[in-house]
Amino acid sequence: MVLDIPKPDVFNAPLKVVEKMMTGAGPSNYHDRIRKSMSLPVLGHLHTETLKIMDDIKEGIQYLFQTENPHTFCVSGPGHAGLECALTNLLENGDTILITCCGIWGQRAELMSKKLNADVKVLYKHPGEQVSIKEARNCFRMYHPKVFFLAHGESSTGMLQNLLEFGDLCREYDCLFIVDCVITLGCAPIYVDKFKIDVAYSGTQKVLNAPPGITPITFSPRALDRIAARKTLVTSYNYDAILLGEYWNCFANHPRIYHHTVCSTLLYGLREAIALFLERGGLESSWENHSRVTSNFCNLLVSNGLEIFIDDEMLRCPSVVSIKVPDNIDPHKVISYAMKNHYVEISGGLGPTVGKIFRIGLMGINATNEVAEKVAKVLIESIKEAELVSK
Ligand code: PMP
Repeated sequence: MVLDIPKPDVFNAPLKVVEKMMTGAGPSNYHDRIRKSMSLPVLGHLHTETLKIMDDIKEGIQYLFQTENPHTFCVSGPGHAGLECALTNLLENGDTILITCCGIWGQRAELMSKKLNADVKVLYKHPGEQVSIKEARNCFRMYHPKVFFLAHGESSTGMLQNLLEFGDLCREYDCLFIVDCVITLGCAPIYVDKFKIDVAYSGTQKVLNAPPGITPITFSPRALDRIAARKTLVTSYNYDAILLGEYWNCFANHPRIYHHTVCSTLLYGLREAIALFLERGGLESSWENHSRVTSNFCNLLVSNGLEIFIDDEMLRCPSVVSIKVPDNIDPHKVISYAMKNHYVEISGGLGPTVGKIFRIGLMGINATNEVAEKVAKVLIESIKEAELVSK
């Protein structure tokens, strides 16, 4: 039989990928060792060596999240899969969730919760503003939510949310506390147990410089009790926290079961990334480094006439810096000039900040004064060029 669709010609050309400075809001660059680890031979998803790597990663994530939760593992999927896994397991039809929306991540949580038929209440803030415990308490009084969502780092604005006291508020109302730590894990203090967080998830492609597509997540014993008491089945197979926990060896005296074929290559990258993170001094040194480098970076930009979107230095996320687009400048021209002429990635706004800000990520191995100075120089040059073109 003749094929309906012929062989595509595009594959006659070899694969070509250029090296870029990945200083947008993520992914960040890989360290050479991470890159090399990902060219190691593939292993099966139940091979002894793979299972050992999974166990190592679990220990690494418990350290990174500062949690003793045995139910700590990875979801095969991007950061969004972490959010979906959290919501899908904790919410049943009609359950009330309170979402704080300070940018796009609250919007995404709202959309996913609606898809799960939850009763969704949203505490909206202007992009760049934090949610206060007082505002949250008022909403808890009104809505008595069963689940509460907060993004620790709102990457669409560059805002760092305070996490203190929200855990106690949740306990008071028998509510479960979900925190998005995608851009903050490793750059700002997160103590899952001390902060009484019930589900935290992160991204690997930000501060850890690891490959995307494999997402660390942790569930507290309270969260597991809630899942066990569900009246209905978790609606997703792929994101079922109990089935995933069985595969990731989270239950004592429970055999591992095959759930899906985890990508061993991504596991190598993540394991090597955690090893490097620890070698570079671990959490305290990374927290200190990110805040010092981004603070220098902000000062450098301000001394060159640019304005940081988040006024209050204490509310600035140490991994993603947002900069106001100067008047009469087309941000697309700036971003494409930087990429075309320097292979430097500068992100534009996202969701509510589209057209209003540039976002620059200084994450993990890119959190150095050297990288910060280079990207600042490129940003300033690109803005000048955009000014000239518009004249
Ligand atoms: N949450 C935050 C705060 C993020 O910055 C991102 C990615 N930009 C995500 C969630 C989603 O991650 P992913 O793109 O890997 O799905």
